[in-house]
Amino acid sequence: MAGSSRRRYAPQLIPPVDSRGHAEAAERARKLREEIEHHAYLYYVLDRPEISDEAYDALVRELESLEREYPDLVTPASPTQRIGAPPSAAFAPVRHASRMYSLDNALSMDELDAWLERTRAAAGGRKLDFVCELKIDGSAFALTYDNGAYVRAATRGDGTTGEDITPNVKTIKAVPLRLRAAAPPARLEVRGEVYMSKASFERINEEQEELGQPLFANPRNAAAGSMRQKDPKVTASRDLSTFIYQIADPRAVGVTTQWLALKWLRDAGFRVNPDILLARSADEVREFCLAAQERRNDLPYEIDGVVVKVDAFGVQEELGYTSKAPRWAIAFKFPPEEKTTVLRHILVSVGRTGAMTPYAVFDPVVVAGSKIGKATLHNVDEIHRKDVREGDTVIVRKAGDVIPEVVGPVPGLRTPGAKPWEMPARCPSCGGPSWREPGEAVYRCTNVACPAQRMERLLHWASRGAMDIDGMGEEIVRRLVEAGIVSDIADFYRLTEHQLAQLPTGRTKKDGTSVTVGRTIALKLMGQIEESRHRPLSRLVFGLGIRHVGSTVAELLARRYHSLDELAAASAEEIEAVEGIGPKIADAVAEFFDNPDNLDVIKRLREGGVQTAEAPHARLPQTLEGLTFVLTGALERYSREEATQLLKERGARVSSGVSKRTSYVVVGEEPGSKYRKARELGVPILGEEDLAHVVETGEPPVGEA
Ligand code: NAD
Repeated sequence: MAGSSRRRYAPQLIPPVDSRGHAEAAERARKLREEIEHHAYLYYVLDRPEISDEAYDALVRELESLEREYPDLVTPASPTQRIGAPPSAAFAPVRHASRMYSLDNALSMDELDAWLERTRAAAGGRKLDFVCELKIDGSAFALTYDNGAYVRAATRGDGTTGEDITPNVKTIKAVPLRLRAAAPPARLEVRGEVYMSKASFERINEEQEELGQPLFANPRNAAAGSMRQKDPKVTASRDLSTFIYQIADPRAVGVTTQWLALKWLRDAGFRVNPDILLARSADEVREFCLAAQERRNDLPYEIDGVVVKVDAFGVQEELGYTSKAPRWAIAFKFPPEEKTTVLRHILVSVGRTGAMTPYAVFDPVVVAGSKIGKATLHNVDEIHRKDVREGDTVIVRKAGDVIPEVVGPVPGLRTPGAKPWEMPARCPSCGGPSWREPGEAVYRCTNVACPAQRMERLLHWASRGAMDIDGMGEEIVRRLVEAGIVSDIADFYRLTEHQLAQLPTGRTKKDGTSVTVGRTIALKLMGQIEESRHRPLSRLVFGLGIRHVGSTVAELLARRYHSLDELAAASAEEIEAVEGIGPKIADAVAEFFDNPDNLDVIKRLREGGVQTAEAPHARLPQTLEGLTFVLTGALERYSREEATQLLKERGARVSSGVSKRTSYVVVGEEPGSKYRKARELGVPILGEEDLAHVVETGEPPVGEA
């Protein structure tokens, strides 16, 4: 290996590494290279990527950092040193007038700042102007004009040689076949991006689906694939467009800056993106990047960042190029919503109904602005479908920007011998046998006395959506259970202030005595317990933790039955007659109340002062029945839970997603995408004042719903 021989002859150049660290790094680098090359081939040559760009970038980043740490691992063929992929033999090769480069990335504002600083220093501390352009997520291409007439188009290929796609590109209406310049140069090569709009992408995928053809992964790949067709008629049918942003030899047309080059291109009849800025300071660059990130979803085409370029060509020439990219430009990429990490363990949690849910524990990574280290894997079938195994390098993201999710493994980076995961035969909490009901995806611990289930049932009762006993968290509940003071939910209502105050916290003082919860917290908890005695019936029904009974079903039941006794006396058939309730739920409810242990808990709840019947006057007239509200943005007067509760008390439904069936969307400060969706669908919008009027008077909003 070149690296090891170099190490022998020039030991002073190589940082000392322990041989095991080096061997492991070399092996990891080799695997990463193979994996990256495989995905580059799928992406550049077949236009059929299997992983997201963010996941791909994360692999490249890892390889780059290994190569930085162990410089002898760099090979000329490493994907960190190369551009794109060699052109396909299916097209005639075209040599570019000058190299078509890739771009270095800044994956955060800090990296962008570092680049701005570095560039200024490299330019001798001069004040620099920058041109900010949107980074169009399409496919790079070059156009050649002889004496103002279109003669050739080529893909970027490996940067030196591209593929001849002249007849295909001729069909794209945005490409001028003759320049509008009065005295065009004898030969002109310009570069830009072929892209497909989001709307055309959706239409084409619908057509592909109808024809039973494979779908395109994203607009970029649809554009690249459409451009590299054997039959130009197919390209013509694909509704492609272009943005041009570079003149290969700007001297040929007498321009000295990127800003003037863009103007020249526009005047010559090319489509130039109008969303550009000549930034006079680093602050202006930053602002443009942040604004682009905000507007990203509103644009009719996809962008994956902002390209920041030093404006003056003279300075560009001084700064020059690395093997892959210009030093005078950087691609600021929007914060990735996907990352790669190493999955360390698949563990199992036991829920209040005994459901055993596997979850992944991985090395923590920051995704979409926050750190994640765990994600549910739902069930064993899902794990087998995704084929994730302990030790795998996995791709993680936040589904809907909130819930962490394991997308799948990067199979090429699997350690040999990694075994498929199986559900343990015994409950990890109590050691009881696990059991899978035929036709169900879920395994359950069948031991009703399982401590994990008991803990979950207690925590569920105290949780916000149920009885909302603030402060009754995992730590205190576990201590209460361990001390033998609480074993079911009714026991909460026999607690005394003294018992709570004396509860050990597990910490010890310097003198060795144990720290207890103390009087202040005990009093607060007693107050919370007292408040929870008077919660609406729907919260109680939800809090009992009956299988399949979520908060919405609990609302439906509490609207039909006005006390726990009434509900307990109802048969499965009667419950099934309630609108919105199916046989599975009805059976689960009836079964719950058939169990004498549960009836005993309810009796003891009542003895503990918990209100198990709706007071006759407690029910407000159901004036909002049949209306569905969606809340978005922050409200001043109400928390999201309060607004929801107040609307529900008058019979309204409150849903989390906007659809055609939504009656009204209530919009607070800084509303999210639901606001945009509501406007697209023409759903009536209410402000906080309107909401206040509705919940205070019970009058439905004025206007069409
Ligand atoms: P790049 O996309 O990061 O940046 C360079 C390219 O940006 C240029 O070639 C040009 O085509 C484009 N660009 C768009 N607007 C521009 C503008 N205004 N000015 C200048 N250039 C502009 O780098 P790359 O080398 O083209 O490709 C790497 C990208 O491809 C990465 O984002 C990577 O994630 C993706 N990729 C993904 C996979 C996968 O499997 N998903 C595989 C390989 C590559």
